[in-house]
Amino acid sequence: MQNPLANASVTSRGAIQLGKHVACDAFDENRPLRVVTHAHADHMTGLSQSLKECEKVLATSATKDLIDIMKGPLYLMGGNVETLEYYKTTRYMDETITFFKADHMLGAAQVLVTDAQGTRTAYTGDFRIDETPVIEADTLIIEATYGSPACKRNFPTDIREVLVNTVQKGLRQGTVYVFGYHGKLQEVMEILHLAGIKAPFIASERIFQISKISEKHGMRLGRILLSVEDQAKELQEKNAPCINFCHMNAKGNADLRSFRVTVSGWEFDTPMRETIDNDHIVALSDHSDFNGLLEYARRSKPKQIITDNHRTGHAETLAREIHKHLGIPATALPKR
Ligand SMILES: [Zn+2]
Repeated sequence: MQNPLANASVTSRGAIQLGKHVACDAFDENRPLRVVTHAHADHMTGLSQSLKECEKVLATSATKDLIDIMKGPLYLMGGNVETLEYYKTTRYMDETITFFKADHMLGAAQVLVTDAQGTRTAYTGDFRIDETPVIEADTLIIEATYGSPACKRNFPTDIREVLVNTVQKGLRQGTVYVFGYHGKLQEVMEILHLAGIKAPFIASERIFQISKISEKHGMRLGRILLSVEDQAKELQEKNAPCINFCHMNAKGNADLRSFRVTVSGWEFDTPMRETIDNDHIVALSDHSDFNGLLEYARRSKPKQIITDNHRTGHAETLAREIHKHLGIPATALPKR
């Protein structure tokens, strides 16, 4: 009998293999096509090597623009990079590759590979179920970040109002510092801008550049001051009402007296909690919770499922729960 997983796997290096030719999100020496589903570090594994050794590297144009900012404009010139937009298809030998939107960060894509017999193998990449179209597939590889029943959010997923109210409360006291990862910070900017918040936004050069790329691809963020500009420095020195967007890595340097907002997915009990030292943790997630992952698996109607056991998450638990609740055979790969 043919191995049912022959055309789909996750390697020990984290490459998501789809069909015969494609490897997503890590280098794979046996696969001529490398896909980057989105510009988060754990999905750009071995990209330098892929640029050197793969025939082609595929990404959406937004992801390509983000990598240009993060790695420098020369980096992607080291390989043969082709952009592919959502719902467009490209062919390689006897297989087709199609990108679908993933609601996760700017440019994020799901990937579907269809072979000559019409067999469909799909990879979700990272996603939030809310605005992510479900791909029907024969074999599905699904992310497993919140793949444990302990990771269920007990509140509505739309917490924009909570975020806006929290920031407004902070602005009444002065400068607000927002901590988050690239992509998520821009999502926060858009939410605040669309809610009519007029306080100036401040960002470091990297965050500023990523914001400009986000606007180029259709997000609406409002005016942003560079943190090195005199006006930005003055606003913060006076503790004037403004919003300073900072990368999560800078959190250790934060002034503990300042009003801080941290956007994090690892919150399941309440949409916002205040810590004793003036931090406000808002549960803005860019991943589905456990129920969202199960919902995707059910609606995709696959014959078999692989959960990504390379990246942070609960792949083994998710595989067990999928089998228990949906009766679909599921395996966590790579084996640990
Ligand atoms: Zn991600």
